[in-house]
Amino acid sequence: MNIILLGPPGTGKGTIAQFIEKTFGLRQISSGDLLREQVKEKTTIGKKVEPIMKEGKLVPDEIILKLITRKVRQLGKTGFVLDGFPRNLEQAKLLDEMLKKEKIGIDIALEISTDEEVIVKRLSARRQCRKCGKIYGIDIKPEKEGVCDNCGGELFMREDDRPEVIKYRLQLYNERTQPLIDYYLEKEKLKSIDGNMHLEEIFDGVLKLLGNK
Ligand code: ADP
Ligand code: ZN
Repeated sequence: MNIILLGPPGTGKGTIAQFIEKTFGLRQISSGDLLREQVKEKTTIGKKVEPIMKEGKLVPDEIILKLITRKVRQLGKTGFVLDGFPRNLEQAKLLDEMLKKEKIGIDIALEISTDEEVIVKRLSARRQCRKCGKIYGIDIKPEKEGVCDNCGGELFMREDDRPEVIKYRLQLYNERTQPLIDYYLEKEKLKSIDGNMHLEEIFDGVLKLLGNK
């Protein structure tokens, strides 16, 4: 099974992807994590995308497509859950072309729809582990503040989770990513879940939707 997660930033896509990974044995492919890895390792790509990401802007389509394609090939037959890609219509079309070449199909585009005030609240509380990538927030708090339960790694706040950047990212989502909902609706791949609920309820919804697949 291959899944695309759609929804505004801060809607819990990363956490939901990690849940799907654990529950259904799929592999999470997070475009944001792939890019942050490049930044951390100071690669050529990393140096190029770092300033763009700090401002919450979209990095060039070719760059993110390259990283995603590499990851999809690495996975082989293992199913995946795509988180953060595609983010605009051009990327959706590039993804379709790439998957066709790889003879891979998308089963579901899962939309998590969330109100803006809920998003702002969540993003301001979000922390992520520097070592293993686990995400903490309002619903999932670490036992000891600032320390990862999983691996003891340090938790950090992302620079693009500052309020002014959050506002910009939301606007970008509405303009560029929202049209993808119709794109997948027309392809009869779209399913939606109410992202305003408590995470546990969202997980239940995901189970019901994907459980009998
Ligand atoms: P969020 O979904 O919470 O905004 P991500 O971790 O998915 O955060 O992305 C962080 C940043 O990485 C984005 O603001 C953008 O700069 C870049 N990015 C991630 N995915 C893409 C993509 N598909 N296309 C272009 N830029 C991307
Ligand atoms: Zn950790």
